[in-house]
Amino acid sequence: MTKLKKSFGNNEVLKGVNLKIEAGSVLVIIGPSGSGKTTLLRCMNLLEQPTEGTLQLLHYTLDFTGNKKPDKQTVLDIRKNTGMVFQSYNLFPHRTVLENIMEGPVIVQKKRVAEAKARAQQLLAKVGLADKADAYPHQLSGGQQQRVGIARAVAMEPKLLLFDEPTSALDPELVGEVLKVMRELASEGMTMAVVTHEMKFAYEVADKVIFMDNGVVVEEGTPQQVLQNPTNERTKAFLSRIE
Ligand code: ADP
Repeated sequence: MTKLKKSFGNNEVLKGVNLKIEAGSVLVIIGPSGSGKTTLLRCMNLLEQPTEGTLQLLHYTLDFTGNKKPDKQTVLDIRKNTGMVFQSYNLFPHRTVLENIMEGPVIVQKKRVAEAKARAQQLLAKVGLADKADAYPHQLSGGQQQRVGIARAVAMEPKLLLFDEPTSALDPELVGEVLKVMRELASEGMTMAVVTHEMKFAYEVADKVIFMDNGVVVEEGTPQQVLQNPTNERTKAFLSRIE
């Protein structure tokens, strides 16, 4: 993305962000509350429409200059190819775990039910929940629900997977099981952008870390550079507050 901006009314939340995510790499986005991290993530799958700048995604180059809007088909195609994992899981409460994972492939991708089911079962096994296929979300712990949330996103075979503070709502003892699944996805070459406060995860898994403050990328580099040897005073102050 180049010079990407996003305003809500008069509030300019993203003030010209330049960013590149290499295929197969993990980008971690850190920064204080209100700095624009979630908005940046939501612009990447057009859940928010940027108000200026350009975005290169899949084979598209989208120009938002003057609040120009991409056509509906393009938006749908980008949504289909970018998965999102939310802080609050957002599972369908009246559907079983398996049905939650099958929903997108069957309804959106028009896959055959048997094929979608087999794949959903595989993904459940992968996130360590093979025995929970017929459970309902409320019967699961937060960590288990979030692992289902990840399986559901992966079932759509996204080119890019976006995580918005995926472990923030979890009790501390449940954080590890979710990060483990994310680590595995990263090691398999999934392209990921992750907003998180989990610094150990960022340090060990990220290829690139960006620190955002007040709608701009203040610092960018390898985890070693940004987390261990930050040069910007705002990055230093932020890191000293959270560690
Ligand atoms: P972060 O994820 O870093 O906490 P956000 O991207 O959630 O930051 O929010 C950045 C700013 O954008 C905040 O001031 C927030 O109030 C504002 N904002 C976010 N979403 C909306 C919205 N849908 N409408 C109006 N303002 C919003």
